[in-house]
Amino acid sequence: MKTKYSNRLKQLGTETAFSVSQDASLYLDTGNKVYPFHLGDIDLATPKNIIEAAVKALYDGKTGYISSTGIPQLRDVLAEIVGYERGMSLTRNNVVIQPGGKPVISKFIQAFMNTGDGVLYPNPGYPIYESQIQFNGGIALPYGFIPTSDGFMIDRDSVEEMIDSRTRLLIYNNYQNPMGCESDNDEMEWLSELCLRHNLWVLSDEAYYNIQYSSGHPRSIASMPGMQNRTVILYTFSKTYAMTGWRLGAAIGPETIMKIFSKLSINDESCTNHFIQYGGIEALTGNQEGAVNILNELRRRRDALALKLQEINGISLFIPNSTFYLFPDVTDIYNAINARSYEDFRSIILRNTGVSFCTREHFGTPLEGEKRKYIRFAFSGISVDRIKEGINKLKNYCEQLEHVV
Ligand code: PMP
Repeated sequence: MKTKYSNRLKQLGTETAFSVSQDASLYLDTGNKVYPFHLGDIDLATPKNIIEAAVKALYDGKTGYISSTGIPQLRDVLAEIVGYERGMSLTRNNVVIQPGGKPVISKFIQAFMNTGDGVLYPNPGYPIYESQIQFNGGIALPYGFIPTSDGFMIDRDSVEEMIDSRTRLLIYNNYQNPMGCESDNDEMEWLSELCLRHNLWVLSDEAYYNIQYSSGHPRSIASMPGMQNRTVILYTFSKTYAMTGWRLGAAIGPETIMKIFSKLSINDESCTNHFIQYGGIEALTGNQEGAVNILNELRRRRDALALKLQEINGISLFIPNSTFYLFPDVTDIYNAINARSYEDFRSIILRNTGVSFCTREHFGTPLEGEKRKYIRFAFSGISVDRIKEGINKLKNYCEQLEHVV
């Protein structure tokens, strides 16, 4: 019998980066060494105090259904801390606990987007934005970035040009995956003015807000004048506390919108895991030593990786202050090995050095006129020693190539 799936399913994308994991595993299984820079996961343990709080909650019987909005104590703590960090006044009514940060993306789109509405989103960017826009019948409007000496800035012309009367939403990921870039004041002001001018709803994906390597104050677009009541923040415990597999996050936004998120949660998952939420309270209010250690280890990895990559002729990069990614320009090496495609390039490097990474193409189809070639190194799942070993191999390989300038 031929199975007929829904038409809509044809529009559903995925995180194609998972195919890189499969290929790296295949290569590993044939007896080779692999240096896993493709993983966006963290290989560090969740701090013990957080684990203990969740286990205690389990033994205390926190095992039944709870409100789809989450337990009030966690909502209160999130309102206080997220509000304080961003200079905003929030209450528990502005917070709906979610099973991770990712579900905020689909719920935001379901809440605001009608078929045929335009949604602006970053490219390169987290691939789930495009997948959810298309799956739900929206018009995908990918905006690009321009490389500068300070990282990557949003290509403002590309944003302005795409907006028309059907454009309703903007997805914005400050402290950005995959590029690690962040908006300066001027960019954030321009973007918020643009949203006010065009009456856009904003999803502010702040998954990496608390991963900051040097002092300075992170900023949220939600705290810009006039923006709080048109912005939903994606908050997650995944990165800061090495809790990716716990699935704990939150949608944070205007009260009326949070009622809609709660209703969507009732339909999708009833509630987020009950006992896990006690781990979340401990993460935010308990001893912060674990989170500090995670950040320090990530900083060591970033510094080691950046230093090693800078030794390679033909690779240029900027060093981000946030996230756990580097996004170097590898055009010269790409050309020197006569790669036919990004996929070809990735496979050649893996099979010659064991260094495994995602390419720019895993974060959206390259935009018209994009000439430089980029790859993404994640340093969240690989130790400093293995970073050094892997990038030495990459360096040796690149050195024997001809024509690398
Ligand atoms: N947004 C961005 C930009 C991400 O990189 C990720 C995870 N890689 C998420 C959202 C989803 O986070 P979570 O694991 O909490 O669902």
